[in-house]
Amino acid sequence: MANIFDKIIGLFSNDLAIDLGTANTIVTIKGKGIAINEPSVVALKSTRNGKKKVLAVGKEAKDMVGKTPENITAIRPMKDGVIADFDVTQEMIKYFIKKVHNRSSFISPRIIICVPYGLTQVERKAVKESALSAGAREVFLIEEPMAAAIGAGLATQEAQGNLVVDIGGGTTEIGVISLGGLVVSKSIRVAGDKFDKAIVDYINKTYSLQIGERTAEEIKMEVGTAIKLDKELKMFVKGKDKLSELLNTIEISSEDVREALKEPVREIGEALKQVLADTPADLAGDIVENGVILTGGGALLRGLDKYLREQVKLPVFVADDPLLAVARGTGKSLENIELLSSALTFRKMLLASIDDVRVLVVKLCDRLHNMLTLQALSLKKQKRISEETLVVYAPIAHRLGISIIKNTLEDLAFYYLYNEKVDGKKYDLKIILRGLMAKYYRQIKKFAKQYRMRLGLMIKITS
Ligand code: ADP
Ligand code: MG
Repeated sequence: MANIFDKIIGLFSNDLAIDLGTANTIVTIKGKGIAINEPSVVALKSTRNGKKKVLAVGKEAKDMVGKTPENITAIRPMKDGVIADFDVTQEMIKYFIKKVHNRSSFISPRIIICVPYGLTQVERKAVKESALSAGAREVFLIEEPMAAAIGAGLATQEAQGNLVVDIGGGTTEIGVISLGGLVVSKSIRVAGDKFDKAIVDYINKTYSLQIGERTAEEIKMEVGTAIKLDKELKMFVKGKDKLSELLNTIEISSEDVREALKEPVREIGEALKQVLADTPADLAGDIVENGVILTGGGALLRGLDKYLREQVKLPVFVADDPLLAVARGTGKSLENIELLSSALTFRKMLLASIDDVRVLVVKLCDRLHNMLTLQALSLKKQKRISEETLVVYAPIAHRLGISIIKNTLEDLAFYYLYNEKVDGKKYDLKIILRGLMAKYYRQIKKFAKQYRMRLGLMIKITS
């Protein structure tokens, strides 16, 4: 429970949202916008006793790559969507938080961090702890496909299925989102970095030219494509000849890059098909209508949307500013922090009395409705709110309702997990939750509709 002291602190602290990406980290300040947008890179120096010391983080660290003495190395601690080095990752998180902190007079902010979907519980805990030790008052984590969907402007809290494909540096994360949660998802380690590597290998094999991954990335951005272009693009590339070891320049075309990227691009298409195959029929219907949204830097590859459209025979769109979509989504969810906390308390009350999934949805509907009606009536009676604000209350209550259902199902999944009611086996909590969400999707969707209608009615009665 938030006490008065917490509330006062809340007035002075600016909450932060962090998109902790495999390639780039973006920090947003509530109400102020982006404060930091830097590569997720750390430069380390090995000392004489074999220990490693952090020299630089972010842009500064990335610029050191290849230009540094041998005892300095630059690493990307989250490169493959898993934490390769806990200490270094923690240092990086702390550095970014402190950098924002020092510039203004913030007092212990609340922080929402968006993490790659593939992180384990232990890794998530490490992320949380580093934020706490950097001075955060409270830390919430959200998953990348979820944040991407919010950032792309999709109606994530509704009983509507939406599909997002976030193509970052290390991972491509695909998620079907409904009712504020991930229903189906998949993460593969094929994304921007693999594109770069495929270009290095192709140029090495085809032109006997050695280039680095940073050059490959430039090629990808300048002439890269997933489909055949109407007008072929060309550029000169410098590298080292494999045989003579001498510097050499060649001209390559967008067709070269398309050939080089064939395999990784195909793998993304296959993963998307797999997710569609795993999507419950009710949700699939929504997706046919809404289409597929691409976010993350990889979405900027020319023609990737067209390629995927061809593969899955569905509309595919690239989000506005795909590189910033996750940061935007994480920033937006800062606005819901209070909502999250109140949902948390209410669901605990509910769970004390209900443990049968079959009756859950129906009961939730009634109880929520009663609670919200009473609350609205009492607010009105106390003349604390005007008629207009009561109307505003409806969509908020709607969102709160949906988030309670989702969270209650989550708790129920925990309950099942810990009581080993599921075939006596230990299942992944996420899998159980997703199963429940998919199974009760139809009921929940119906509930959401009715619920909204009843709320509408309630407002009429009270006004
Ligand atoms: P992450 O969320 O994993 O940190 P980002 O969403 O920031 O990743 O995307 C970074 C990836 O996007 C890099 O692999 C980068 O090369 C790629 N990228 C950025 N711009 C473009 C572009 N114009 N064309 C193709 N790829 C791009
Ligand atoms: Mg990202």
